[in-house]
Amino acid sequence: MCCSHSFENPPYPSDAKPETFDISAVKCMKFFDPHVHMTSRTTDDYQAMADAGVVALIEPAFWLGQPRTGLDSFRDYYSSLIGWERFRSSQFGIKHYCTIGLNSREANNEALAEQVMELLPLFIYKEGVVGVGEIGFDDQTAAEEKYYRAQLDLAKEASLPVQVHTPHRDKKRGTQRSMDIALEQGLDPYSVIIDHNNEETVKEVLDRGFWAAFTIYPFTKMGNQRMVEIVKQYGSERIMINSAADWGISDPLAVPKTAALMQQQGISKADIELVTYRNAITAFAQSRQIDEADFGVNIDQSAKFAGNSILRGGQQPRIDKSSIIIS
Ligand SMILES: [Zn+2]
Repeated sequence: MCCSHSFENPPYPSDAKPETFDISAVKCMKFFDPHVHMTSRTTDDYQAMADAGVVALIEPAFWLGQPRTGLDSFRDYYSSLIGWERFRSSQFGIKHYCTIGLNSREANNEALAEQVMELLPLFIYKEGVVGVGEIGFDDQTAAEEKYYRAQLDLAKEASLPVQVHTPHRDKKRGTQRSMDIALEQGLDPYSVIIDHNNEETVKEVLDRGFWAAFTIYPFTKMGNQRMVEIVKQYGSERIMINSAADWGISDPLAVPKTAALMQQQGISKADIELVTYRNAITAFAQSRQIDEADFGVNIDQSAKFAGNSILRGGQQPRIDKSSIIIS
């Protein structure tokens, strides 16, 4: 029976390190991953996320690994985030939202960035767009700052939350600048989600009233053991966890795995729910685009998007991954 174990009695001995992710440890929980680039992931990932309890996600617009050469590439990408990718997600029972923005790297191509800025208002008001993002700094150049400010203005005008990518290099200064500029542009810190935090940045982000998001990446940024320590130290208010899984080495199950680790290490059920589900909804629901009643809708894999389905000729809608036979 679901929820037969209690959080006061974790399923592992408290000093044991789980070698493998035991999905049963989180089977009673539901998760919201507020930063995951599903365009770069496979149907297996969608299935694994659904099996682990991910009921909804946000896919921020980002850099695709190589620079785009023209405006139409941006247009088609943004269209896919509100179109095909949302449909693909629905085929696994996961509610898909997105944020739309010009990423920091490509802000450095100013000629193209100018054109993208003209395009953004055509997308940010669409249904299911829950913010402007991910925007901010990469190399902290003047061009990045220019388009970060312009997009903050756009978010303010549209009354949308902002999802801020903080730089990997010179992170502390980049995070401080990101917050300073958001305030200078007149944004309420409660509408700004500062992403990719670490131990060095979290205190100031929370003290200044912003949301602090943490990306759990294997081998870099934040591991989930470090995340457990942060929640022990700072609590769960205005903190959220994401996978930021993309085309690089990353883990689309980072949110449920971190919940399992937190449970094992004595974090309360209420705090786990806040950082892996509720806080992200509260922050991004300021867009007025999120309704929990839309989560967990029935899967209809016979459905089509613009005449196209996820099924290939003769395929059955579900495949048993545990079977050795692939039929
Ligand atoms: Zn990202």
